[in-house]
Amino acid sequence: MKVKTMYCCEFCNTTPFDSMEEAQKHEASHFKLTREQYIKWGKLKSVASDLGSYLSMSNNSENRKNFDDAIEELCAFEAENNLSNLGMAKIPSYFGFM
Ligand SMILES: [Zn+2]
Repeated sequence: MKVKTMYCCEFCNTTPFDSMEEAQKHEASHFKLTREQYIKWGKLKSVASDLGSYLSMSNNSENRKNFDDAIEELCAFEAENNLSNLGMAKIPSYFGFM
């Protein structure tokens, strides 16, 4: 038996994609981003989220600085790519682990 993996867009109900790359390109198009920009955005969000969790567990100056730096980098990326008005747009968490 063969197992075939299909990928679907998180934001619309388009035809499933045969590869993650195709699905990522499609999802990126919802935000007028390239696939690379979309992946970078996901990583920035994931890092900020993780550092926020660390900060909630251990509130010290190093964790506060790391969290502030991550938020600053995320906000700069979103402003540069006209994503600031999207609020907390949900993107798949698996981008943080690529
Ligand atoms: Zn879509």
